[in-house]
This record gives sequence, structure tokens and C-alpha cells, in this order.
Amino acid sequence: MTPPNATIGNVSAATHTAVATILERCQALSRFSEVPGATRRAFLSAPMRACHAEIAKWLAPLGIATRIDAAGNLHAVYPAAVPPASDSAANSVARPSLDQSVPTFLIGSHLDTVPNAGAYDGVLGVVLAVALLESLAGRRLPFAIELLGLSEEEGVRFGVPFIGSRALVGRLDEDLLRRTDAHGISVRHAIEDFGLQPSAIPQAALGPNILGFLEFHIEQGPVLEDLGLPLAVVDAIAGQSRLEFIFSGRTNHAGTTPMHLRHDALAGAAEWIGAVERSAQSVPGLAATVGVIEAKPGATNCIAGQVRVSLDVRHASDAARRAAASGLIQIAMQIARARKLQVQHKTLLEQPATPMHPFLVDRLARSLTAIGCQPHRMASGAGHDAMILAERVPSAMLFLRTPGGVSHDPTETVAPADIAKALACGLHFLLQLSESPDFLHHKYLQSESMKPDSLIPDSEKRTRRA
Ligand SMILES: [Zn+2]
Repeated sequence: MTPPNATIGNVSAATHTAVATILERCQALSRFSEVPGATRRAFLSAPMRACHAEIAKWLAPLGIATRIDAAGNLHAVYPAAVPPASDSAANSVARPSLDQSVPTFLIGSHLDTVPNAGAYDGVLGVVLAVALLESLAGRRLPFAIELLGLSEEEGVRFGVPFIGSRALVGRLDEDLLRRTDAHGISVRHAIEDFGLQPSAIPQAALGPNILGFLEFHIEQGPVLEDLGLPLAVVDAIAGQSRLEFIFSGRTNHAGTTPMHLRHDALAGAAEWIGAVERSAQSVPGLAATVGVIEAKPGATNCIAGQVRVSLDVRHASDAARRAAASGLIQIAMQIARARKLQVQHKTLLEQPATPMHPFLVDRLARSLTAIGCQPHRMASGAGHDAMILAERVPSAMLFLRTPGGVSHDPTETVAPADIAKALACGLHFLLQLSESPDFLHHKYLQSESMKPDSLIPDSEKRTRRA
């Protein structure tokens, strides 16, 4: 199971075994499910406990114990080379502790799934973290590595995503604890039912000893496959604007109202939807989507008098996203005016972009080059735990190509060769950090700006299409 001396850049026999183990483990975790024959594992559901036990079983041979924090996140600490003086006990078994004096680098992803999920979304990031610890083969680094299996990212059970990572940044508050699931069970009660203490949630927050966070995740999109690349460094997580538009005209008889005397709200909305697509295609890196359309009265023989449509706009640059959203509002008003319709809009969500930490992005890119991969950078159009953790700690993500771009589906896959490269990249990255004075002396924290608009990824301009 433990690959001795995994060779960076070459697919050695040990790497081959490690990759086979990673794939088996992802499949094994997919069987811990609320639904027989399919994968569904929501926040603090019963199979999550079995999932934790399975991961603990993999880590036990490394002498690493696990703990579950009050928000249901799994933690496991691979100790640093030199224990600080305050860490008196020279235990042979590394107990995950709340000792905030040991510099610690976090690696992980989420363990919850969507309903009818695949085996790799989230889980692969945790399983790869285990494999990385195994690949170190007992070698200690100047910092501890803490594996994270986050309890909730998808928002399936309570309609709110990132419950696990919110606890780590100190944002699992009373409002969130009061939210209820479809059975009327609150987040607070779910935590108690799992045998955890809601009163201990503040202690789940990350301490000042955290050096950074790395999340491996499948891309869940077609970009890398289209480019023929196995991996990419995520340089930003796109911001999102969500709006709702209501086009109002006049409902009338579809047979008796001549075409030139109509105020057809649906025809107006349709014209605008076409314009949304065209205008997003003309801006590099922009994604704009109308996913909901609701026409009233909604009958074959009626001209629609009122239409509600949604708009989702995403870009790695907040300025570009805001400009696009306001441009689309202007276009809606122009179309309404020309057709003698009214249009109203309201903003439902404004979420700024989250740049990944430039130092870690740069080091990940160097690791890609070192293992013979193109150091491709791209933005993530989807939200991830790294977006939440970036509020408190320097964060980075590595995307793995997603065959067919298919995710959130049982047919989700990942290529073994890509996993081998991700493992080699992760190992090189950790060794690189362990030899970097800038990292070890925390210089990277002061020298880099983390202002959202300071980072407009070049790759966005080249690779992303609407
Ligand atoms: Zn995910």
C-alpha cells in the first residue's frame, strides 16, 4: 500500500500501485451511501461515520490518528520533523492535536456528495492527500501536514454549502446552526445526533499556525480535456452575480391579436437571452447563463404577459463581472423599450472572486514544470472549499482533467495517468515548500497582495470560453 520512494516525474512501479490504491479507495468511499446502489452522502449522515472510519484505517499504518471536529470535519496530522520544545511527549503515535504552535500545512477536500454522485468530486482530494502522506514514506518536513476531510461542501442537506469550511474560518454561526433540513432537523441537532458538541464549534476554527491550504479537485468541466492537458493550477475562483429579471407585456389571445399589435413578454425575454449568450461569447473568461424561464399564463393559445428569467454571471475579475452584469441589464432595458414592454431586475447574489495565493500558485506551477507538465493556469468557474479557506489562510488548488467534463454524475471519471501526475506534482510541491526560506520564514505572507482585483489571470483570456 505504501509506495516507497515514489519517483517524481516517472511512473514507477510504486506510483502505479499508489494510483491503483487511490482509485480503489475512491470507489470504496463511494459505497458509503445513504442510498443502496448509488452514492449520496450528505452532511453528517450515517455513512459519513463509516467513511471516517475507513480513512482512519488507511492512516493507522502511518501511525497517524484522526479526529473529528465539532462541525464534522476529519483531521489527521502528519508530524513535523522537529517537534517544538512545548510538545513534550515523544509519542510514537502522532495524535492530531489542537497544538497551535506547530507550523502546519493543510491538504484536503470535502467528503460529502451530491445525490447520485460520482466517486471523485471532493473525495479524490482527500484520498490524494492520504497518498501524499504515504509517498513521503516517513520523511518529515519542517512543517506538519494536516489532512482535512471536510464535512460539507455541496449544500445538499441544508441548502447552504461549505458548512465544514465555514467552521474552519469561524463562520459557522447561530443563523446557520438554526437552519433545518427537509425533515425539520437543524444543523445544531444534526451535529448533536452525530455525537458532536455544537458548543465546541469555535474551537474548530483554524489557528495562527496554519501556513496554507492545498486542494486537489477534478476540474468538473471540459477545458483541460479540450486543451489536452492533465492538470492546471487554479489561480482564482470566479466571482458570481445572480439576478432575476421580470419582463412584463400584455397577455392576450394567440389567435386574434395580430403580430404588430402584441406586447409579448416571452418574445422580448427570448431576444434578451440570445443577447446574453452573444455578449458573454465576446468577453474572454466570462460565463453568463440564463437557467430559469417561467412564462405566465403559460398556455399554448396565450401571448405571455409576464416572464421571469434568471441570470448567472461569472468571471475571475470582479470588475469584468460587474461590467458584464450591468451591460446585460442595459440590453434588457433596450429590448423592453423597443418592444413596449417593462423590465425589472433585482440582484440576488454578489460574490466576489477569490484569488488563490500567488506564492502557492507560482510554486504549484513550478512543480508542474518540474514533473514535465505544462504549467497551465485557469480560473475555477465553480465554488470550492479553497474559496472559503482563502479568507483565513493562503490557499491553492490543483485541477485534474475531467474526462468528458462530466461531474455530479455516476459516470464521473479521472484518468490514472493524470492521478499519477497530480501525486508527483503534490510531492514535488511539498518538498519545494520544505526547502523554501520564503515559505518557512513566512515571507510569502507579507510579500504578496491578495486583493481580489489585483489578480486577473492571463489564462482566463486564453482558455475560457463562455
Ligand atoms: Zn467538489
